[in-house]
Order: sequence, then structure tokens, then C-alpha cells
Amino acid sequence: MVVGDVTTGTDVLVIGGGPGGYVAAIRAAQLGRDVTVVEMDDYGGSCLNHGCIPSKALISASGLAHRAGEAERMGVYAEPAVDMSAMVGWKDQIVNRLTKGVESLCERAGATLMTGRAEFAGDGEVRVVKAGDGQGSETVSFEHAIVATGSRPVEIPGFGFDGEHVLSSRDALALESVPDRLLIVGAGYIGMELATVFQKVGSDVTVVEQLDGVLPGYEADVTDVVHDRVESLGVDFHFQQTAREWEATDDGLLVWTDSEAEGRAEKRFEADRCLVAVGRQPVTDTLNLAAVDVETDERGFIETDDQARTSVDSVFAVGDVAGEPMLAHKAFAEGEVAAEVIAGEPAALDHQAIPAAVFTDPEIGTVGMTADEAAEAGFDPAVGEMPLRASGRALTLDEREGFVRIVADGETGFVLGGQIVGPEASELVAELALAVEMGATLEDVASTVHVHPTLSEAVHEAAKGARGASIHY
Ligand code: FAD
Repeated sequence: MVVGDVTTGTDVLVIGGGPGGYVAAIRAAQLGRDVTVVEMDDYGGSCLNHGCIPSKALISASGLAHRAGEAERMGVYAEPAVDMSAMVGWKDQIVNRLTKGVESLCERAGATLMTGRAEFAGDGEVRVVKAGDGQGSETVSFEHAIVATGSRPVEIPGFGFDGEHVLSSRDALALESVPDRLLIVGAGYIGMELATVFQKVGSDVTVVEQLDGVLPGYEADVTDVVHDRVESLGVDFHFQQTAREWEATDDGLLVWTDSEAEGRAEKRFEADRCLVAVGRQPVTDTLNLAAVDVETDERGFIETDDQARTSVDSVFAVGDVAGEPMLAHKAFAEGEVAAEVIAGEPAALDHQAIPAAVFTDPEIGTVGMTADEAAEAGFDPAVGEMPLRASGRALTLDEREGFVRIVADGETGFVLGGQIVGPEASELVAELALAVEMGATLEDVASTVHVHPTLSEAVHEAAKGARGASIHY
């Protein structure tokens, strides 16, 4: 039966139930607004279903297996075996638990959840095509809309995702068996995290990258630590290589790359599977944004200000659709800001204090400015650094590589940023993010007593170092 078109109305219509959308919905409902969320797939978006959480689950499990097998120096002898299907099953349980949690949080806050695909139909109106055959559609009129439709992986010409030979990160996170040979195109954070996972569970991983190093956007001394470590795990890197074409063979596939730097010389790689992880693009082309005159840039991102406002007063955009950094916690923060601005509160997001992390082995955590960026911005930077080989806690974890660096304004001592590479960098960077956000000084960090022995002492020591008062290094 086809259900006819019906019309309903809401104060705040949120399109997309990922980190940006569900947080915006909960916050707007908390602030007394009538909220409707439209999601066409599973709640939790890319982050919970195919991104942050599944990848971190596999990173933990593969890391545990690898660590147990490498602990002879600590007097531990083990030969762990990996059952990929069980590992993926464990990961799926976590995902299911969390996605149900998101739905229930939205409902308990008072938001109405609608399943279907939304697109703008005109001023103040969205059309929702309900999921499932014959479910019909519904027109929802709104006072304010928050677009939170996220992003999808970029496909490169000739390498359309088929789920069998050419995989997206989503496909790779659902693999129930370990490919003997995995070729990864792209050494950004997704490629590097998954290279680490699959090498640790037994694949022979090869990474080809168009640029001349891993993890573009981070400083060389940070990425060098990760590159060296991941290479020492056995991952084979080929830089300045562009993937051009592939062909299926009896036992997998052949991939050809060429190198502009090497006069288009070709290389040939054999693999069982090829994961393409060359970036993500915003999901804005399916929204009929022209119906409401919302502007996008040439790459399809919706342009927003620090209050998540678009070029149209009634429409806000948060998360990956609103541009870099495409990270879940940026989406959370923008979702809250959009809801509060709609509710008339004076909220705004300080993009300088948004940390970033890469969950490789070891991890990277950064926030704010590098020393070069601080100098370019006119500061006379004071920089303190603590290598982890001088940290008692790092040594008790059998970790030696990496460092904590803190960057401050040499004149006032205000903390401007920091870069950490080492174990738990994703956790340690929170202290630096708090310092940047609240305008703390080196003295504030240096005079805060830290627990001994912990990795966080390295942050403390780096702050002391920047003041010329290092004790342990
Ligand atoms: P999404 O999470 O993409 O959610 C958008 C939602 O909108 C989806 O559920 C989609 O179904 C829905 N939707 C789209 N169009 C419509 C429509 N027309 N109608 C209705 N619904 C629609 N970030 C981190 O911070 N830390 C990490 O460790 C991390 N790891 C990652 C690992 C991987 C492998 C990947 C792929 C991403 C990772 N990310 C990580 C990035 C993170 O997942 C995204 O930044 C985050 O999910 C963005 O949230 P969002 O709400 O903007 O969009």
C-alpha cells in the first residue's frame, strides 16, 4: 500500500542522526524546542557504524594480540591467534549497543525520530521519503533546519567500491577474514590506522601514497615516529605513487600505479584486496540545497560561520558537511552550538581549540598552533619538549618512542598549542586542549601537580621545559 503524502511541522528539523545531528537534536530538545530528526540509515552515523568506534575496536583488539605476542622482553611468552570473524562480531556488539543508546538518548530528550531520506522542497520545507517500499513520503515544515548529513568516502577514477576487490573503509571494517595481502591506497589517518590493524592481525600490508610521506598536515618529526614504527611492523610504503588501474586475477587483483616524480614509471602490485582511503567528501549533493538557496563551496561543503549559520538564516550546518576538520568531536561541538544559537543563546565555537588524534601505533594528538604557525601569527614562541624515553611511566609500558611538545607565547606564557606522539596521545592532548581553550599559561600547567608515574607528567615536564625549568629532562 502506498501511504499518501502527509504534512507535519516542527521547530527544529535535524537532517542526519550522526554525531552532529543527534547532539544538536538532544541539545535543542533540552532547550525546550520541538525537534524532529530524520535519519535514512542507522543512528550514530559514520562515527558509530563505520568509522571512529568500529576502527578503534579493531585497533584495540589487534593491538592486544600484537602486544601479547611481542612481550618477551617483559618476560611474557604468548602466541596469540586471531579469529577475525569473532573480532568483528565483538566490534558489532559494541556498535549495536551504542547506536541503540543514541536513539534512546534522542527519544528521552523528547525528539521525534523519523526514518527516511530528506531533501529540501522549498522555503521552510523538507520532503522525507520514508524507508522501505510503499512507505510514501512526508513533508515536514520547519522553523529552523540543521543539516548534518556527514560525508562519504571519495572514489578514485577506475576504483569504484565493489566490496570485494576494491574496498572502502566501511567494507574493510566488516571483513570477516584476514586478507593475506592488502594494498591500501592513501596514507592519511584512515589508511594508516587500518594499515596498523591489518598488519597486526597478519596481513602483508602495502601502502601506496601520492604524496611523499604519511599523514599530510602533521609536522615531520611527529609523522616520522609513526612512519618508522608502522614500517617496523612490516608495512611496505611506496610514496609518490598514483593508483591508475586494476584488474581482477584468479587469486585477487593487480594494481598499477605510476609516479609523476619518476617520469610516469609504472609499478605493479599484487594483492587480495585493495582498500582505497583517499579522503571523504560531504553529502550535500542529494539534499536539493538549491530549493533553499544554501551555498556550498566548490568541493560541496556548506559554508558556515562560528555559530554554524549558513548563507540562509533558517538553515544551520554542522559536522563533516561544514568542512574540516572532519572529526566527530568537531561535529558534537558544532551540533551543540547550532542548537544553542537557535534557542537564542550566545554560543560560538573556537576552532583553535579543537584537538585532533590519529590512533596509529603510537598515537598522535595535536591541538592549536605549531611553533611555526605561532611564529607566522606574530608570536615569539616558547617551546618545551619532553621525550618519552625519559618518562618512567612510558618505560614501564615498554614504550620509548615519541614526545610531548607544548607551544606558548613567549611573552605572556599563554599556551597556544601542542603536539604529542606516543602511547595514549589521544588522551594526553585533552590537557593541552583545556589549556588552549581556557587561556591557561605555561605556569598554570607547570604548577599543576601531576600523578606519578603517569604519561601526563610529560605534559607537565614539557611546560616546565618551555619555562627553562625542566627537572627530569
Ligand atoms: P555522519 O556521521 O556521516 O552522519 C551523517 C548521517 O546523516 C548518516 O547517518 C547518514 O545516514 C545521514 N544522512 C545523510 N543524508 C541524509 C538524508 N538526505 N536524509 C536523512 N539522513 C541522511 N572522527 C573522530 O573524531 N575520531 C576518530 O577516531 C575517527 N575515526 C574515523 C574512522 C573512519 C574509518 C572514518 C570513516 C571516520 C572516522 N572519523 C573519526 C570521522 C567521523 O566519523 C566523522 O567526522 C563524523 O561521523 C561526522 O559526523 P556527522 O554527524 O557530520 O556525519
